Amino acid sequence: MMEVHVLASGSDGNCTVVECDGESVIIDAGLSCRTLMSYMDCEGVDPGTVKAILITHEHSDHVKGAGPMARKLGVPVMCTMGTYNASSMGSVDFVPYSLRGSFSVGPMKITPLPTYHDAAEPNAFFLESDQGKVAVITDTGKFDHRLEHALGACDAAVVEANYDLTMLRNGPYPVSLQRRIESDTGHMWNRETGKALSRTGADGRKIFLAHLSRTNNEPDIARETVAEITGIKRFKIDCLEFQGDTRTFKV
Ligand SMILES: [Zn+2]
Ligand SMILES: [Zn+2]
Repeated sequence: MMEVHVLASGSDGNCTVVECDGESVIIDAGLSCRTLMSYMDCEGVDPGTVKAILITHEHSDHVKGAGPMARKLGVPVMCTMGTYNASSMGSVDFVPYSLRGSFSVGPMKITPLPTYHDAAEPNAFFLESDQGKVAVITDTGKFDHRLEHALGACDAAVVEANYDLTMLRNGPYPVSLQRRIESDTGHMWNRETGKALSRTGADGRKIFLAHLSRTNNEPDIARETVAEITGIKRFKIDCLEFQGDTRTFKV
């Protein structure tokens, strides 16, 4: 069995742990080491199982706690050269990967998938073991065929639904920032995420909406929009409800 622990999701910080046969990887560490350690404790993640910290891109909501966590747990940080060079993680055991292949951590085969985002060399992840497949896809302005293939092939999708378009356009953000978020190198909105899930076959997958904006989205609106577009029952679509909320599910 694979276990997915969403410890934080959104612009205040992101962190997901994927565990398989007693070995786990942390995907993004965008909160302080102390907060992340306490969330891991809440969700029953044994720090001794962590084998690596994977970083999707250098924005602080993904990388802020990476250096301290890596030093505390004594594990390597894995990311692209572009992400590493754009980050300042301090002294860490850095293990680069390229966006052209896969690598293994414990029993998991991990494929980084390029994303479209205003960062140096960002990527999402597709994690496979003989127990299941998990896609973790956030911080992308669009889905290409590789990202959609991952959405279609996975048993659980942790997928970005950053904003509701009406809320964004009527919200407090300056127009220039709205444009950046809406662009092809910004973030995904509820409706487009719903459409991508529809296109890739919506049955049977666990769907977890991620990286919801606190300003331009609400859990109910995100769930309702994706449910309406995909035809999936609303209660089957999950997301974090409030700051400090965490979630664990099995694949
Ligand atoms: Zn970002
Ligand atoms: Zn982000």
